[in-house]
Amino acid sequence: MYIRDNTSFQIQSPSEPKTLIVGAGFCGLAIAQALADIDGLIVVDAGSAFAEPAKWDKCAGTEPLIGEKYRARGFGGTVALWGGYVAWPEQDDIDCKKTDGSNIWPVRYSELSSWRRKAEAALGLSETADAEGIAKACGIANAIKDCGLSPRLWRFVQTSAPKRPSKSVPIFLNTVLQELIFSSDDKQVVGASIRCSEGQRHEFPIRRVILAAGGLENARILLSADQENRKRFSSWLGRGFMEHIVQEVTGLVVPNESWMGKIHKRINQNDCGEKALALALPRALREKEKLPHAILHPFYHSANGAMSLGLMAEQRPRTSNRISLINKMNDDGIPRLSISWAISPVDREYMSRSLMFFEQSLLCAGAVNRAAGKWASLCDHAFSPPWCGHHMGTTRMGSSKSNSVTNSDGQVHGVSNLFVSGSSVFPTGGWANPTLLLLALALRQASFIRNEENVGRMPPVSLLNPVR
Ligand SMILES: Cc1cc2nc3c(=O)[nH]c(=O)nc-3n(C[C@H](O)[C@H](O)[C@H](O)COP(=O)(O)OP(=O)(O)OC[C@H]3O[C@@H](n4cnc5c(N)ncnc54)[C@H](O)[C@@H]3O)c2cc1C
Repeated sequence: MYIRDNTSFQIQSPSEPKTLIVGAGFCGLAIAQALADIDGLIVVDAGSAFAEPAKWDKCAGTEPLIGEKYRARGFGGTVALWGGYVAWPEQDDIDCKKTDGSNIWPVRYSELSSWRRKAEAALGLSETADAEGIAKACGIANAIKDCGLSPRLWRFVQTSAPKRPSKSVPIFLNTVLQELIFSSDDKQVVGASIRCSEGQRHEFPIRRVILAAGGLENARILLSADQENRKRFSSWLGRGFMEHIVQEVTGLVVPNESWMGKIHKRINQNDCGEKALALALPRALREKEKLPHAILHPFYHSANGAMSLGLMAEQRPRTSNRISLINKMNDDGIPRLSISWAISPVDREYMSRSLMFFEQSLLCAGAVNRAAGKWASLCDHAFSPPWCGHHMGTTRMGSSKSNSVTNSDGQVHGVSNLFVSGSSVFPTGGWANPTLLLLALALRQASFIRNEENVGRMPPVSLLNPVR
């Protein structure tokens, strides 16, 4: 791929419809690499060759939570800011999530798992590893089981600089997608309008668009594309926004000399700091108690040699947690965002109950409760989440336009050549950090698009009567 960080937008054969990838984060780059040899593929990214915190605009609503600290723009995207922890979800994060009696995820866990290895390779992880295997190898599997918990595994990816793939796909930096232009029946995107850094606008014909612009921006682009409310998209667009709820759990202290306290240390010794274990409630208990997936992990060592714990919990999707547009433009000439996001009383109650089960197990494992009972209720906390980096759910996938924005391939319902990729398509959040799963979905999507190309299924695009 070659990178054009220039002010003029020059594409080869400008009248030929292009396949446009919006976003050169890990997701967009993975798709670009997988499709590098298809004709007319180009990538645009709003940022420069070195990704930096995104100065998109001030969002209304919960802006202090989701400001520039939690998104980056430029080559490589938000991994410029990330922690590098990756994890693979459990089967019940995907297969057992139900709403109105039907599965929310339109892809089976087994199908997604067949893409896991490729996603790991894209992140430079040389092999697949599982939590049970690591716990066994460290001699602590039985101890974990005896106190009624299940291990979960995090691995660390060292890089925040994605490889530049070799094939010659042009990547235009400092180039913002401003507008999508639709056919008069709204069933296809026929054109795109972009703006270069010095303000020039260019319009060009489109064969296919893949939005890989991040968990908030994917939805913003689609919301901007239907401001006249032609009902091009599902009413779920922008709704169901989820974060992982992350916070330190105080009150329970784990002595370093207990097996629980040794988890981090032993794993670090065994695997040169590349893997860490966390603890989850077993699936049967979560199912019986209808609890979301939450994990506890060693958080930090205090001066007296004890260890505190960190909680990372799934948030259930709610339509009231949403992003929408406000009637003002940002500096890039796209409408500003408003974000409504809250941790509901129901979320708090679930987390509180999960923590009570954790407490029972960890006390058996030698933890000390410094403030009996108190810590276990999140309702006791003035809950102000310090974290807001996993943006999920705003363009969720599902079986139809009535319950989702895209289908299982990330293809927008009703618009055959418009695709969305990234954690915005997750209908539920599960316990795991999102990037490994979003990459697996992106590679699966690229394979779908390649098949589409191979069988020539793409309808020819027409520029007749385009509609904005
Ligand atoms: C502080 C922090 C820590 C994190 N830690 C972890 C972690 O430990 N593990 C994990 O799995 N995940 C983590 N994440 C999340 C992880 O960074 C994201 O899941 C991942 O970067 C998403 O990749 P992406 O390519 O989908 O989107 P992004 O990386 O956000 O890339 C999107 C790109 O699209 C471009 N773009 C957006 N809109 C437009 C437009 N209109 N026109 C042109 N270009 C556009 C942007 O400039 C950007 O470069 C963390 C996030 C944060 C903020």
